[in-house]
Amino acid sequence: MGKKHVALRTCVLCQRVRSKRELVRIVRTPEGAITVDEKGKAAGRGAYLCRNRACWENALARDRLDHALKTKLDAEDRERLLAYGRQLPDAKADRLDPTVSSGKGEGNLQHG
Ligand SMILES: [Zn+2]
Repeated sequence: MGKKHVALRTCVLCQRVRSKRELVRIVRTPEGAITVDEKGKAAGRGAYLCRNRACWENALARDRLDHALKTKLDAEDRERLLAYGRQLPDAKADRLDPTVSSGKGEGNLQHG
């Protein structure tokens, strides 16, 4: 006894591996709703992001969550997730890969 298994998950944006506690789970429920799963226990397909504002903004800008959740986030979902991400700390020490050079969001992330 005494061996503790620490569940590790990967941030879908920066690919950093962290313990579940350090990440936030976003889940697509069986009903197709996209929600932030604070407890990490909701049923459905989940994706993880760091508790870091930049990861959320970039994940949304680059459609990383769409891929991870195998769905298409609608404008409402994006806004909700972005609002959630923006209240998280902006960890400047966390370097994102250099391909994330894009200018500030123009707001319009329309598809198709
Ligand atoms: Zn991250």
